[in-house]
Amino acid sequence: MEKGEGQEPQPHVVILPIPAQGHVKPMLKLAELLSHSSFRVTFINTEYVHTSFLSSIDIHAFSRRFPKFQFVSIPDGLPPDSPRSGKGIFDVLFSLRDTAKAALLEVLVSLRQPPTCIIADGIMCCAAIEAGEEFGVPVLAFRTYSACCTWTYFHLSMLLQEGEVPLQDKDMDQLVTCISGLENVLRRRDLPSICRIERADDPLYTFFITQALAMRRASALILNTFEELEAPILFKLGSIFSKIYTIGPLHVLSNVRIKDDNLTTLASTKSIRWQEDKGCITWLDSHLPKSVVFVSFGSLMTFTCEQMLEFWHGLVNSGKPFLWVIRSDSIVGDYDPRTTLIHLEELAKDKGLIVSWAPQEKVLAHSAVGAFLTHSGWNSTLESIYAGVPMICWPASGDQQVNSRCVSDVWRVGFDMKDGCHRSIVEKMVRDLMNDKQEEIMKSMEVLSRTAQQSVKKGGSSYFNLEKLIEYINSIHL
Ligand code: UDP
Repeated sequence: MEKGEGQEPQPHVVILPIPAQGHVKPMLKLAELLSHSSFRVTFINTEYVHTSFLSSIDIHAFSRRFPKFQFVSIPDGLPPDSPRSGKGIFDVLFSLRDTAKAALLEVLVSLRQPPTCIIADGIMCCAAIEAGEEFGVPVLAFRTYSACCTWTYFHLSMLLQEGEVPLQDKDMDQLVTCISGLENVLRRRDLPSICRIERADDPLYTFFITQALAMRRASALILNTFEELEAPILFKLGSIFSKIYTIGPLHVLSNVRIKDDNLTTLASTKSIRWQEDKGCITWLDSHLPKSVVFVSFGSLMTFTCEQMLEFWHGLVNSGKPFLWVIRSDSIVGDYDPRTTLIHLEELAKDKGLIVSWAPQEKVLAHSAVGAFLTHSGWNSTLESIYAGVPMICWPASGDQQVNSRCVSDVWRVGFDMKDGCHRSIVEKMVRDLMNDKQEEIMKSMEVLSRTAQQSVKKGGSSYFNLEKLIEYINSIHL
């Protein structure tokens, strides 16, 4: 098709996240913001996510609010009963690596208004870049990780070449000195979790290296972070990308920009799978300011029954009330999930509350919450920083090891409990964070939180960068 033929005055952006809560949510936030700026948006979910997600949205109210927004779906190539959380997410990624390009091309061909550009998840870049090049549209990469972690992934190939990775049998407390800008930050144990895979020829290494290589061909990089938080590493990323748009924390930028709307019509406020337990806010109302520990390990992380019991004892021994999210698929291993949970819920009655999914942003904003025991997913980290709630980090996979190190040793807004969760450590960290060392950590948290709040306001860095991104997409469309 000739450029300009059949084009509407406004751009049409196609958005492709990987099918995981922590990726769909920020990309949907951006999609809603672009739609709010009158862009046409096509948002692609996998069929598995599409079905459960759409049933949780009031699609009529959403379509009235965003008339030029459509959801479409592509298959993820796996059988319906294949597990998609925990390690199952890697099966999804491998399957999409092989199938997403063709599926995306099919969507692109079917669109009534030709696309202006594709905004693809950094972990979907191979498929998106190849489809984009074939179809003749530019691809912008949205890496839903921090700048520090994004930069670290670009060094994966070098880490392998230098024999720094795989980490097996190495001193995990040794600093990793070959990632420029992070020489004094990351120890081996703080590298992304895939560096713990034992064989250098494991397909996961190839997967992430190939995606990072493809990402370099994107015309711009979008990050859910704010300039003031990661300025030195953003500068380093400038050696790869001529255009970088930092527009975080997106969960607030979206609320600020779409402020005149009833926020309940936003699809991005809904979970892609779970029903929120709103009762936990009433429970929090009955607690003193900064007295409760909020415990949540995100949407994918799993833990064993033994680990759960260590947390349970540590929390109970700390004497602090807790609100704990345990999803129906959180616990793995050899045990009866129903009876264990019922038993814990029974035991928890006067000490805490266990729910299967919480309105996390609202929980973190609640005055009763004084600490966040988190897996250090990037969204959770940003949400906690914005709300000014100090963290205890127990990272498991992906970018979480890097994030928790930054929380404890760069920004100094929490503790890193990496690679252990003995009940005595849990108890000590909770006590330290909520009593003894509170003042020190809260001082840095208040500064960081205020900076995050400024960044999304009119005149702030993220607010400004979103304008620049919109301008850039408009310039492609012309
Ligand atoms: N979340 C939520 N309720 C919960 C647990 C998580 O709303 O009970 C949201 C949380 O606010 C965050 C997202 O799920 O936005 C999880 O993303 P994150 O990057 O922190 O972790 P992931 O799930 O990708 O491991």
